[in-house]
Amino acid sequence: MNAAAANSAPTNLALDVEAVRRDFPILSREVYGKPLVYLDSAASAQKPRQVIDAESRVYEEEYANVHRGVHYLSQVATDKFEATRTRIQQFLNAASENEIVFVRGGTEGVNLVAQTWGRQELNEGDEILISTLEHHANIVPWHLLAAEKGLVVKGIPIHDDGQIDMDAYRSLLNERTKLVALTQMSNALGIITPAQEMIRLAHDAGARVMLDGCQAVSHSAVDVQALDCDFYVFSGHKIYGPTGIGALYGKAELLEAMPPWQGGGEMIARVSLEKSTFKKAPHRFEAGTPAIAQTIALKTALDYVSNLSLDRIAEHEAMLLSYATERLQAMGGITIYGTHSAKAGIVSFAMDGVHPHDIGTIVDRDGVAVRVGHHCAQPVMQRYDIAATVRASFALYNTTEEVDAMIASLERVRELFA
Ligand code: PMP
Repeated sequence: MNAAAANSAPTNLALDVEAVRRDFPILSREVYGKPLVYLDSAASAQKPRQVIDAESRVYEEEYANVHRGVHYLSQVATDKFEATRTRIQQFLNAASENEIVFVRGGTEGVNLVAQTWGRQELNEGDEILISTLEHHANIVPWHLLAAEKGLVVKGIPIHDDGQIDMDAYRSLLNERTKLVALTQMSNALGIITPAQEMIRLAHDAGARVMLDGCQAVSHSAVDVQALDCDFYVFSGHKIYGPTGIGALYGKAELLEAMPPWQGGGEMIARVSLEKSTFKKAPHRFEAGTPAIAQTIALKTALDYVSNLSLDRIAEHEAMLLSYATERLQAMGGITIYGTHSAKAGIVSFAMDGVHPHDIGTIVDRDGVAVRVGHHCAQPVMQRYDIAATVRASFALYNTTEEVDAMIASLERVRELFA
């Protein structure tokens, strides 16, 4: 390790990272005989003991199907399940818990909006603006809908530094624009978009906004009322919760006017052989048996980050990001993609003369887990005319020592390819 760089690592962390790390059992394991250095939380975050226990406690003590039974356990499970809805409402500062729809994750949330609101409200020739930074989850559902309904999907360009080109955005907005599908934070570059301003401009043009919070939600506090977004989605597994559960927020008047999506048990008011009528939102959008234990444990994950304070988490991750950025720049021969200052928790880069996949494979042998590839954001790669990057993403449990381990491993890659 470069001693000068190691000495420059900040030491007075507000977050007690060592205590946090003890909460995450997986972080103490080794891979290939080396300590695990997990720098892939943007793909999926690890789970604290509290979340693991909460999920198994459901099966050990509280499990039954929800919303169906009059028996004791069903009521306990239903109360706990609905408590997560209330918790998400508070977490996003939504006006009502009826604005929170349980979905499998961000992907399902966007598809739900496309297939219900989009199918009902959008007509041939209507325009959807999507930013160059979008994850495929906030692109492909709109392409599918566009093909079905004759809609026009247009891309909002980004500057070389990875930030949205606001002049281009303003000039793309017009009376045909009906929806802006925007990420709050890029999973490929870490860039934080000026969502609030973009939402205001979209509304001035008469368009609705779907905000993809899958990355942003674990890095800073979200207030959907202050943002004034029309829809917001996030996945539980990226905020230290279980897989298979996420949330869609929609403004009450929009959700109430949207037709059902999937049909089945629990979303109906009444069914006869000839006809079905449906419950109000959000239950109208929740057909079938949900991910009960995962939903209940998601509340524990949200409590966990709230107890640590999202502000402190953001501060810690910003420190890691700037430390990693400095150390990468000091190496030379490294190109960082996404250099705008509005950034959180992710550094995406390439090394001269070495393919990102080779980097990923070699550092893996040192126990360093980074992501390589297009990160399900091919338009970003096309913008920079590259096939892939190496992405290191930071979470509340990462340390400067882990950044040092990544850099040391990258130095070895460099030597191998020299
Ligand atoms: N949007 C963004 C910005 C993401 O990073 C991801 C996950 N990589 C998604 C959407 C999709 O989330 P999920 O796979 O959990 O549905």
